[in-house]
Amino acid sequence: MRLPVLDNPANAVSAAITGRDYLSHSQITTFQMCPLRWWFHYVAQLPREHLSAGLLFGQAIHAAIEAHHQFLLAGDAEMSTVENLLRAYDEAWALNTGGPLVYGKNEDAANLRDKAMGMLSAFLDDEVSRPAGEIVAIEEEMRSTIGVDIPDLLARLDLLYLSDDAVVIRDFKTSRGLWDEKKVAEAAGQLILYAAMARPITEALTDDGIPLRLEFVVLTKTKVPRIQTLTVEMNVDALARTKAVIRQVWRAMARGHVYPNPSPMHCASCPFTRACRQWSA
Ligand code: SF4
Repeated sequence: MRLPVLDNPANAVSAAITGRDYLSHSQITTFQMCPLRWWFHYVAQLPREHLSAGLLFGQAIHAAIEAHHQFLLAGDAEMSTVENLLRAYDEAWALNTGGPLVYGKNEDAANLRDKAMGMLSAFLDDEVSRPAGEIVAIEEEMRSTIGVDIPDLLARLDLLYLSDDAVVIRDFKTSRGLWDEKKVAEAAGQLILYAAMARPITEALTDDGIPLRLEFVVLTKTKVPRIQTLTVEMNVDALARTKAVIRQVWRAMARGHVYPNPSPMHCASCPFTRACRQWSA
């Protein structure tokens, strides 16, 4: 499903900086985390010195959940077994091209795979794995503009389905622990923005007044995996704030406001630590 895109002069500016005529959520969050890390990855396009195994793990779990929904869409629900989802996990894991893997404390490929098995098993046992309605889109790429002074945004909807009482947009996350209200509030802007971008799709489905429901589904990496389904309220103030943040981030990118923003949490997983040590403005 392709959404209409207007001519946007900021796209050419973005293409001249990063080679991409759009902004993605990943670019925006990387810049917020550390502008220099964003510059190394998206502008200088340096090869990663290594890849965080935790990042690859999240991508592989995501691939397994996508495979599950593809089975449902094809009418092959019985094919969605832990073994088949692990196959999708293994395939995604094998696609790693991000350099040598760096593991967290007490982690290796085998125990992460065991963890994946537990998480996918918990997911299949949870009712959230059986969306009550018609699946409309899986991993749907959307592109739309939020202003001619900002490049088009590129986003991907994990799952959109139509139930009896709502059009549901779901975003899947893996997490070290359970999400609390604060974490939901921090992440809500992304989902609210995606819902705004998906409006042409959802309005076509909701012309009889069925409401829109936004949900995060969190799979925890805890010893006993937990599955959380967390609802986010569509909120015009949060949407306006998210757009304002993106506008400011884009202005900083376009003006070359790049600097290191060291923090123990982010530097530990940064794939550009050597380049960072050698950097000077
Ligand atoms: S090592 Fe830290 S400060 Fe340097 S680029 Fe990476 S995240 Fe930024």
